[in-house]
Amino acid sequence: VELPIHEAVLGRAAEYGDTPALIDGTNGDTITYSQLDTFHRRIAAALAEAGLRQGDVLALHSPNTIAYPVVFYAATRAGASVTTIHPLSTAEEFAKQLTDSSARWIVTVSPLLGVARRAAELVGGIEEIFVCDSAEGHRSVLDMLVSTAPEPQLTIDPSEDIAALPYSSGTTGVPKGVMLTHRSIATNLAQLDPFIPMGPGDRILAVLPFFHIYGLTALMNAPLRNGATVVVLPRFDLDQFLGAIQKHRINGLYVAPPIVLALAKHPAVTKYDLSGLEYIVSAAAPLDAALAQACSRRLGLPPVLQAYGMTELSPGTHVVPRNAPNPPPGTVGKLLPGTEMRILSLDDPGKDVGVGEEGEIAIRGPQVMKGYLGRPDATAAMIDADGWVHTGDVGRTDADGWLFVVDRVKELIKYKGFQVAPAELEALLLTHEAIADAAVIGVYDEDGNEVPMAYVVPQPAAHLTEDDVMAYVAERVAPYKKVRRVAFVASVPRAASGKILRRELRELREREGESA
Ligand code: ATP
Ligand code: MG
Repeated sequence: VELPIHEAVLGRAAEYGDTPALIDGTNGDTITYSQLDTFHRRIAAALAEAGLRQGDVLALHSPNTIAYPVVFYAATRAGASVTTIHPLSTAEEFAKQLTDSSARWIVTVSPLLGVARRAAELVGGIEEIFVCDSAEGHRSVLDMLVSTAPEPQLTIDPSEDIAALPYSSGTTGVPKGVMLTHRSIATNLAQLDPFIPMGPGDRILAVLPFFHIYGLTALMNAPLRNGATVVVLPRFDLDQFLGAIQKHRINGLYVAPPIVLALAKHPAVTKYDLSGLEYIVSAAAPLDAALAQACSRRLGLPPVLQAYGMTELSPGTHVVPRNAPNPPPGTVGKLLPGTEMRILSLDDPGKDVGVGEEGEIAIRGPQVMKGYLGRPDATAAMIDADGWVHTGDVGRTDADGWLFVVDRVKELIKYKGFQVAPAELEALLLTHEAIADAAVIGVYDEDGNEVPMAYVVPQPAAHLTEDDVMAYVAERVAPYKKVRRVAFVASVPRAASGKILRRELRELREREGESA
């Protein structure tokens, strides 16, 4: 059955009744399933009464709050497409996304109101700015809960109409608006369900942002569709995060590699009772097998389950099923049902490589985006004439069909004809006791060879030299993979989804005149 996303997610909400759907991890405020059902209908009615029309774009500009999902489903029920905005955006960045997406409505929170107002001024043509809490001069969605306006009666075409317009992370360039239909998102939820089943009694912690497709799917749509309880945190703070796991007896964590790293290495972890945890899922960026093992051993949990996807794929294509007896270390999972994959030769595009060989991952399936908004050329470069999405990621499968992601095609360092994956060197560097974080990029040496350069964040009070770092790697890898440049930095630039922004490191190096 084809359903709009609010029906696909909230179709059974009334059935779950008084079960808490959303709990604010900072103050305990709770929204039950029956409230979620009525609240989003009331707000949908009020938005329509305020003039929102089917096909309008609404910009949702907020950190994670318990109101976030309510507003999201209200907006889609009113016929809008929701473009989710990074809450740390500057007014200029926000304005760019407003212009690009042709958004006419904004929903924000009072602490971000200044940025939202400036962005709206820069763009012009915004109908109204609503807040989720309260602010002088702005209508609040809280007041909409008492609306007596009739619910909008619309016909939504799930396979054509855009439910969400998230932007890709911008890891490789400018973030692109990704048109996801009701159908692509709802189908992907149905594909994901059997791999990591969730239901009433499950308690999920939403610390990764809802605005990114990973959070939107794993922390909002999937748990709320299945009657689980979502504990919501506005940002990642290690102690608050660990405290919430303890207090709410969280059993399922959906995180990105930097949080796995913290769970594996940070001293604070042992101060908390994390015994409610049953499983951890990691996605959005490469996770090293040894690090994943260190994390699960330390917490006494089964292996960390990885998943793989991208905004353009609604987002999932691979997941390690919870009941898999022995997933091989490092795998990102098995292909979801109804999805096809090819691994294409990097040297001879168009040719498939054999089992165990590396190539570019290509995907076809019902979760493929409708396209990039307003960028037909970029869309055509991504989705070929036969419907295959060329992910730009390098991967290989084993004989049992488990997928391993190596790195992005564009990030591979070509050292004298050999290919070196920065992700592999980063993972190795993190195994060093005195290294808190690390990123690797390709740079050119005096002879014009591309060589790996490591940006290293030393542990506090560690005595670490550049030679120590190079020697540590050299002892553990084939000679062509050696790190040949090292710089010490205070932090590694990362996107909200946890990805290393290697582009920023390259810019830093250019600004510093390639002196390193
Ligand atoms: P942009 O496309 O704007 O440059 P982005 O590709 O980082 O940014 P997302 O859609 O958030 O934007 O991320 C998708 C990418 O994340 C994938 O193409 C892949 O490189 C990476 N990724 C996702 N899951 C995994 C995983 N389990 N292991 C390794 N990499 C992953
Ligand atoms: Mg991408």
